[in-house]
Amino acid sequence: MVPRVVYGKGSFDQLGDILMPHRKNADAPCIFLVDDVFEGTDLISRIPLIFNDQLIFISAEEEPKTVQVDVLVSKIRNDFTEPPSGIIGIGGGTLLDLAKAVAIMLNNPGTSCAYQGWDLVRKPSLYHVGIPTISGTGAEVSRTTVLLGPEKKLGINSDYTIFDQVIMDPELTKGVPKEQWFYTGMDCFIHCIESLNGTYLNAFSQSYGEKALALCKEVYLQDIDASESREKLMMASWHGGMSIAYSQVGVAHAMSYGLSYLLGVRHGLGNCLVFQHLNEFYPDGVALFHKMLKRHNITLPKGITAKLTDSDFDTMITVSLGMVPLWENALGTDWMKIMTPEKLKSIYQKI
Ligand code: NAD
Ligand code: ZN
Repeated sequence: MVPRVVYGKGSFDQLGDILMPHRKNADAPCIFLVDDVFEGTDLISRIPLIFNDQLIFISAEEEPKTVQVDVLVSKIRNDFTEPPSGIIGIGGGTLLDLAKAVAIMLNNPGTSCAYQGWDLVRKPSLYHVGIPTISGTGAEVSRTTVLLGPEKKLGINSDYTIFDQVIMDPELTKGVPKEQWFYTGMDCFIHCIESLNGTYLNAFSQSYGEKALALCKEVYLQDIDASESREKLMMASWHGGMSIAYSQVGVAHAMSYGLSYLLGVRHGLGNCLVFQHLNEFYPDGVALFHKMLKRHNITLPKGITAKLTDSDFDTMITVSLGMVPLWENALGTDWMKIMTPEKLKSIYQKI
């Protein structure tokens, strides 16, 4: 679990005080990895840069890649005589995952793709802080950093991945565009449905999943004011992340990974595209999802897989069926009898 959390409107301004005890000396900088959507905004002037700290703007247009992590790590190693005092990620799941991966790789040898999997990281990562600016993925709380590698899209799952400190300031999510708000928020909603309906469920995960689901229903199905909604969605994201940390996600995520690997479809949207067709597996959740779509006038793109070849479908199916723990959680140990490649293809074809 994340050992230190600060929550509340305006809490971002505590960052300077929080970092101070972790600064090793004037030559060991803090490196701020910041979503470039904030370039030129007031948030940048509030970042507590001192000594030779470095601010690196990164686009979240594409999801993080192992090569991108390796390039960042070698740049940081080349730019400074000393290892940094800390890595601070400011942004959505993309920036949070990059910060986690860079912090791991600064203290571990080789390339990041060698660590995609479960518990392959040997040495503790560098001190790292996560500051979410959009709510839903739960990346601020999870023990994974999801990376697109040369062969697979898979997380570096380890105890060392977890942030040392998280700052949750709901005001930072103010500028999120409506559709993105919906897609990333639905990632949280889908985490809850997949966790609560999975065979891995236990009282720990259930307690967080139920709270997150209740918060999602308030945010997406009730009339609440914008400020309260931002606060609730931020906490829903946290609880949804906690819920899957001790269980697993399910069918939508397993399939969405295939879409994302082949077509680069972003995580939140990919989950929505798949989830709309999963009535057979999550009837109550899918019915709620359609209500939310309608209430917020969201029209999902169509025809995403219309032009794909058989070999494209095979690639997506291989990536998806490789997510064994997700299928096992969703459908039990005999999952292969239920989710055959043909069945999977028929769902992909609907998207
Ligand atoms: P994101 O980080 O990809 O950002 C989505 C868009 O929102 C970007 O265009 C970004 O610039 C913009 N944005 C972010 N904050 C904003 C703000 N305050 N104002 C205006 N625009 C803003 O979105 P995401 O959905 O949070 O993250 C998706 C990524 O998270 C994927 O790479 C996915 O694999 C990863 N993920 C990780 C975990 C985990 O546990 N580590 C879990 C789920 C998803
Ligand atoms: Zn997710």
